[in-house]
Amino acid sequence: RLGKPVSGLNASKLSISLTSTRKPLPKLEDLTFGTTFTDHMLVARWDEGAGWSDPKIIAFEPLEISPAALVFHVGLECFEGMKAYRTSSGKILLFRPDQNMARLRKSVDRLAMPAFDDTQLLECIKKLVKVDERWVPERKGYSLYLRPTLIATTPSLSVDPPSSALLFCILSPVGPYYPTGFSAVRVRATFEYTRAFPGGTGENKVGINYAPGMMPQVRAEGEGFQQCLWVWGEERVVTEVGASNFFIFWTNESGEKELVTPSLDDGLILPGVTRASVLHLAQSWNEFKVTERRVCMPELVKAVEEGRVMECFSTGTAAVITPIKAIGYESRELAIPLDPSDPTQGAGPLARRLFDEVVGIQYGEVGGPEGWVV
Ligand code: PMP
Repeated sequence: RLGKPVSGLNASKLSISLTSTRKPLPKLEDLTFGTTFTDHMLVARWDEGAGWSDPKIIAFEPLEISPAALVFHVGLECFEGMKAYRTSSGKILLFRPDQNMARLRKSVDRLAMPAFDDTQLLECIKKLVKVDERWVPERKGYSLYLRPTLIATTPSLSVDPPSSALLFCILSPVGPYYPTGFSAVRVRATFEYTRAFPGGTGENKVGINYAPGMMPQVRAEGEGFQQCLWVWGEERVVTEVGASNFFIFWTNESGEKELVTPSLDDGLILPGVTRASVLHLAQSWNEFKVTERRVCMPELVKAVEEGRVMECFSTGTAAVITPIKAIGYESRELAIPLDPSDPTQGAGPLARRLFDEVVGIQYGEVGGPEGWVV
């Protein structure tokens, strides 16, 4: 079954049925993340015998799925999160969509779900964005969030790989995470509960990774934190923050300035597109050391106590960069500077610079590395 060629998804067979009832566009100020949807969606069905159906763009509408479908019982589904941005001249750009497609392919494989050619999916997604282009907001900071998703639809209560599946993509106009400037967060180092473990699915974007984080998240919120800093195992390995990647900017024990982020080697971390982009940009500046490696809580505590930590932040598609101002760990609270030279600022200089650079590239204002915007 695994790696078996499946009859292909073919973008040239895409059909488009436009809705007769276009919705009014929302007021941008009223948008709440991920709750407003556009007029259309992309769908393609897969069946073990017939392979992929021809993809279709149809009106955004409820799905009809058997209550016995695998997705509802064993959580067999994976998804992506990416955005379309409108430049000041009105062009629509995607940011490194090939990375999202490659990550989706890995998630699909990990769940033994049906494979497809992701360049074909990307072609279909581009057509969908074009069909709903009036929904790509014109204001900088706003964007259209894209959610490609694959669910197992086999009506069976057995614990078996799927024999049928539905691929869809829906679109949601979203606002900037920080409409009034950065808002630094307090995170709780969470080691009593695990987001991911070796051999698990932490490195994949699959729904089953997120459900177990809900209760720890609610607990952390009850204690006055906004996010969990996921810490794994006896060594207290630092992994991710909520659904975003974690970075520390510090003076390391050898006295060098260094941007460090947990490495992907243990399979515990989602390889964020923003993470990879931040690493690439920081490396290209050639101003300080940039390192991917294992970081454990005792090492981070020591660095904070010795006053070596300059900034901590997290990265992701939704917010780009989120500054971290405090880490709750056991009974302690580790204060993280935002801007050592100006404590009134909501973000440190590196977080700000990376944010400006990434957002500038996403909105086509500054040229990024070859192929990043499409
Ligand atoms: N970690 C997790 C667990 C996530 O869900 C996300 C969001 N996709 C990220 C990190 C950040 O990834 P990206 O930069 O690709 O949005």
